[in-house]
Amino acid sequence: MTTLLDLNYVLRFQSLPSELYSNVLPQGINNPKLVVSSHSTASLLGLDSIALETQESLKLLSGQGVLSTWQSIAMKYTGHQFAQYNPNLGDGRGLLLAQVEHKNITWDMHLKGAGATPYSRQGDGRAVLRSSIREFLASEALAALNVPTTRALCVIDSDSPVYREQQETAATLVRVAQSHIRFGHFEFCSFSNKPELLKTLCDYVIHEHYPELDNEPQKYLVFFKNTLQKTAELMAHWQSIGFAHGVMNTDNMSILGDTFDFGPFAFMDEYEPSFICNHSDYQGRYAFNQQPNIANWNLSVLAQALLPLTNKEDLMQQLESFSDYFKESFFTKMNAKFGFICAFDSHQDFIDDSLKMLASCKLDYSYFFRKLNNIHIESVRQEIRNHCLDINLFDRWYTQYEQALVKDGQVPDEASQIKRKNNMDNVNPKYILRNYLAQNAILAAQLGDYSQVQTLHNVLSKPFDEQPEFEEYAQLPPDWGKKLEISCSS
Ligand code: AMP
Ligand code: MG
Repeated sequence: MTTLLDLNYVLRFQSLPSELYSNVLPQGINNPKLVVSSHSTASLLGLDSIALETQESLKLLSGQGVLSTWQSIAMKYTGHQFAQYNPNLGDGRGLLLAQVEHKNITWDMHLKGAGATPYSRQGDGRAVLRSSIREFLASEALAALNVPTTRALCVIDSDSPVYREQQETAATLVRVAQSHIRFGHFEFCSFSNKPELLKTLCDYVIHEHYPELDNEPQKYLVFFKNTLQKTAELMAHWQSIGFAHGVMNTDNMSILGDTFDFGPFAFMDEYEPSFICNHSDYQGRYAFNQQPNIANWNLSVLAQALLPLTNKEDLMQQLESFSDYFKESFFTKMNAKFGFICAFDSHQDFIDDSLKMLASCKLDYSYFFRKLNNIHIESVRQEIRNHCLDINLFDRWYTQYEQALVKDGQVPDEASQIKRKNNMDNVNPKYILRNYLAQNAILAAQLGDYSQVQTLHNVLSKPFDEQPEFEEYAQLPPDWGKKLEISCSS
C-alpha cells in the first residue's frame, strides 16, 4: 500500500523569492474523522486511497502534524474583488503542504482550513464542514464531466467549533492541482512595483508548465495567449453545462484555466441566463451570463500586470481574440449537446433561439438536454412539453429542431439515431450536483452520517452513465430545493 509517507515529494515553489510566501505550520483540528475521499485524485498522486483511512493520514491531513519532507507555506497574492483592487490577500485559510511528483507531473497538495496565516486578516483560518463538502463534491463532479478543475483528495470533519452565523464544526479539505498560482500572484508583483519578482514568477510558471517556451523570444506573450485560450475554453465548458461559479474575483482565477475556489457556486436547475448564485452579489456582476465577459475583464487585468514584460499592442490584440476562442469552443460544445455534427458555426442562430426557448419555457437545463436524444419519440416529447411554461413556443421550437437536424445532414434511420443518442449521452449528463442534493448530503453529514456524501460522490463520478439504482439522484429538484441561498461565510 502506498501511503502519504511514500510519495515523491519535491520542493519547487520554494525556489521562488520569499516575498511570495510565508512559512506557516498547520494548526490541527480535534478528533479528525474521514468524511469522504476520492480514489481518482489519490491515483493522480500515486497514492492508495485506502491509505487515507489510517490514523497517521488523518492526523497529517487534519493539520495535526507535518512530514519532514514537507515545507508548508501560505502564498502571498492580491487581486480584484468585485472590480476593486485588494492588496491584502493571500492564503488566509489554506497552506501549500507539499508538492508531489508522479508520472512526470507535479501536483500541489493544499490543505484548506489549516488555521490562521499572516494573510488571514480578521478570519480564523478555518473552513466549515458544509463548504468543504461542497468543494469536494463540485470539483470531483466537474472532473467527471471533463471540465478543467482543481481536484479534491478528501474532507476531514472534527470536533473543533467554528463560528459563522452560528456555531459549526471545522473541517479540512485537501485540494490537489497542478498549480495554485492565480492571476492575483501577477497582480501582486506588478502592482506592488516589483518588476524583477514579476519576471522571476513568469519564468517559473513558463518553466514549470510550458517548458517548450523557455527559449522563445516572445515567451511572455505566448504565455498570456495560452492562459487566455485556456480561460476561454473553461468559460465555454461552464456555459455549456450550466455551471455558475459565483465569485470570479481575479484571486480565484487559475493561471492554468482550472475551475478554482468554490464558494456559492451552483449547477443551474431551471435555465435562467441572468441567474445569480451568490446572494451577496447584489449587482449581478457574476451572474451566469456575465461569466465570459468577466473572464475577459479578468484577463485584461492580467494583461495589465504583464505590461512590464510585454508590448501593450500585442497584449491588446490577444485580448480581442477572446470572444472568437470562446465562441468556437462554446458552439462546438453546444453542437454536440444538440447532436449536430456540422461545423461549430452552422447552427449558431438555432442554438441562440433554443436557449431563449429554454428560458421562456423555464425548462430545467440538464434535464432538457438529457431527454433531447429521444425527443422524436412522442411520449418523451410530451413529457418535456408538460414542464413547459409556453407550450406553443416549445412546439414551434421543435419544428425548428427537426429542420436543423435535416440541415445538419442527419438521417432519421434507426442506426443513425442510436449513434446520435450515444454521442449525446456522452456530453449531456444524467447526474449533476444540484444544490438540493448537496444540501441533503450536508445535513446528514452535520449529524454524523457521511454515507450520503459518499454515495453522491460515487453517483457523480459517472455522470453520463445510466445508474438505475440511483434514479432518484436524477430527479428534478423539489420546490424547497429550487431557490436555495448559499451563504458566502464558509
Ligand atoms: P475566498 O472568498 O474564499 O476566495 O477568500 C478570499 C480571501 O479571504 C482569501 O485571501 C482567503 O484566504 C481569505 N479567507 C476566506 N475565509 C477565511 C477565513 N475563514 N479565515 C482567514 N482568511 C479567510
Ligand atoms: Mg479565493
